[in-house]
Amino acid sequence: MTMKDDCLFCSIANGDAEKLVWQNDIAAAFKDIHPQAAVHILVVPKQHILNLDHLDDPELAGQLLLAVREVAHAVGLKGGWRVRVNNGRSAGQVVDHLHFHVLGGQELKHDAH
Ligand code: 5GP
Ligand code: ZN
Repeated sequence: MTMKDDCLFCSIANGDAEKLVWQNDIAAAFKDIHPQAAVHILVVPKQHILNLDHLDDPELAGQLLLAVREVAHAVGLKGGWRVRVNNGRSAGQVVDHLHFHVLGGQELKHDAH
């Protein structure tokens, strides 16, 4: 498993467990610092992967998707929640470590874009 030294989400995911709302062997989850919904959690792989364009391992891909669902249920979301992944600058990716935005806890409007 490879971490990147200067990567914010590598250090959060592999750092202080108290800052995490959930973790397993391959993934960690923590609250977004600027929540865009009543519940806004980020789920990230513990290893450094830039975004979905760089996720090549099908087993890890499946594990991450199941981790996303497990996190959603662990924080009390069920039946009405959203997952979003921004890949690349033009899609709004700011942090260069793959992260799944898990949003819910309120009525969610359709995204305009
Ligand atoms: P992106 O725009 O790259 O898809 O999403 C990056 C997300 O990371 C944003 O929603 C932003 O609020 C969140 N974020 C940025 N820096 C930090 C941080 O230091 N801690 C936490 N918990 N979230 C962060
Ligand atoms: Zn990283």
